[in-house]
Amino acid sequence: MHERGKKVGTLPVMEMGVEDTEFNYGWFLEQERTCMLLRKMLEEEGEEEGVRVEFGWELVDTRVVEGGGGGGENVEEEESYVETVIRRALSGDNTNSEENLLLGGVDMYAEQEDKEYEIQTVRSKYLIACDGGRSTVRHRVNIGFSGRTLGHKTLMWDGECETDIVSSDITSITGSTNNTMIMIPLSNNLTRVSIEAGPLSPTESISETLKTVTVPYFEILAQQACYPSTFKVKSTTWLTCFKINERRADQFVYKNRIFLAGDAAHIHSPAGGQGLNTGFQDAHNLAWKLAFLGVRYQENTLNRPHPSQPVPAVDYQVGVRAQDGVISPIPQDEKDASSSTSSTLRLHQLFTGIARFHILIFTSTNVEQTLTPATVAHTMRFITQWRHKWIYKSSLNDGYVDKDLFKFHFLTPSSTTTTSTFANNKVIQELSNHQIGEGKIFVDNDGKVHKKYGFAPNGSDDVSAAGIVVLRPDSHIGYRVHGLEEQAWKDVDQYLSSILTAQVE
Ligand SMILES: Cc1cc2nc3c(=O)[nH]c(=O)nc-3n(C[C@H](O)[C@H](O)[C@H](O)COP(=O)(O)OP(=O)(O)OC[C@H]3O[C@@H](n4cnc5c(N)ncnc54)[C@H](O)[C@@H]3O)c2cc1C
Repeated sequence: MHERGKKVGTLPVMEMGVEDTEFNYGWFLEQERTCMLLRKMLEEEGEEEGVRVEFGWELVDTRVVEGGGGGGENVEEEESYVETVIRRALSGDNTNSEENLLLGGVDMYAEQEDKEYEIQTVRSKYLIACDGGRSTVRHRVNIGFSGRTLGHKTLMWDGECETDIVSSDITSITGSTNNTMIMIPLSNNLTRVSIEAGPLSPTESISETLKTVTVPYFEILAQQACYPSTFKVKSTTWLTCFKINERRADQFVYKNRIFLAGDAAHIHSPAGGQGLNTGFQDAHNLAWKLAFLGVRYQENTLNRPHPSQPVPAVDYQVGVRAQDGVISPIPQDEKDASSSTSSTLRLHQLFTGIARFHILIFTSTNVEQTLTPATVAHTMRFITQWRHKWIYKSSLNDGYVDKDLFKFHFLTPSSTTTTSTFANNKVIQELSNHQIGEGKIFVDNDGKVHKKYGFAPNGSDDVSAAGIVVLRPDSHIGYRVHGLEEQAWKDVDQYLSSILTAQVE
């Protein structure tokens, strides 16, 4: 942090030291690279050729066509569907896909009378509108975007610069104008600079202001903002001006067919990097529900407290996000157990790939008592039943080879006395040879994960040390029950039956 030419302090914002995540650091990526990485992933996903983005198509209209209401011979025709009109210019800016490759821009404001368009009508079961803060879809289906627009404008620039400010870290500069300037190092000698550019006048519109924002104007503003430090533009790759909105769509779903996601659904300050991330979460959470096609939403039963057991502390109640932690495979011998290099992994690594239910089975330190052959038999019986009853129809591949909707994992706490227990216990040894997701058992070192999930070992407080946690496909706790006996599995079965509808092929 620099103030009037002097370094006044350092805040370690890029090293967060947070324990519960593998990603305990900040990371800056150019928008261009983010887009390229995402597009590459899409192309590599899927069973055959993957998903390709077609650039240059503009959505002009969309509507839900109501179905006949059932009773007809052709069920498909009886269901409602989405009809969307899209167009692509046959001449002009949008005809060259290369030009739109990186940002996927649609030239919505460049309609010219002499322009010719190719028009198509697309029929689909669903439409997910990720068309940004000014969402055409949101306007077309008339969903409000309540909230407020903050009165300040900010300039954002990417390019090469000459400056006496050391810029290998994020630098916040307050100079003579008191307009905060932030410098962020990017790759290839590029730097991102954002500067507060003062309040918008009551009559000023950001689209008009954008037309007057030039590189020389930005350079003057930057020089004033960092004075007495120096700043000179060498080259520019991007310059824009924006104001901050804090808004949320009044509803995210239209007639159960059209969904809003990302900035189309909610928009806020870019500080903290939560814009794109919340958008991903929308899409991820929506995708599993649409892929499975049979979730009941009544009374929000996706999260359900146990009907009779006491409600646990807030950190591990149903509805909270699954916490992460370090786990390791069962050591095969004493040497393995004492080895500092024995391969550890994070709990969250078990949940990567397409969305599935993950059943975590926590044993107590007294494994002899809680992890009996009968316990394992109940587990296998129930999981097998569920896998037959509820079928996952997604066609995407991930680290798991099958398309089961359910994966399950045993976790057993370690203590100084448990190494020999691991080696001598036949059940543990057998489970340690299972495939990941098929009931493989892991060691929870010092019971840290047990504590995070409310199964404190050593019988502390009033919780028993063994139990089952059902993580929903969006990695939130949907259900939890103490105990591993048959009744506990019946409780889980009841929970799943209440939120999932049996699939009919
Ligand atoms: C200056 C700034 C800095 C930011 N920094 C960060 C950050 O560091 N981290 C972070 O997570 N977020 C950041 N954000 C927020 C982030 O950019 C957005 O939250 C994110 O891009 C939203 O993604 P989206 O796909 O929902 O919408 P968008 O990225 O807006 O994408 C919408 C797309 O739809 C297209 N489109 C629009 N209308 C139509 C139509 N009718 N037909 C066809 N296509 C259409 C648009 O061309 C566009 O490609 C920042 C935002 C700003 C403005």
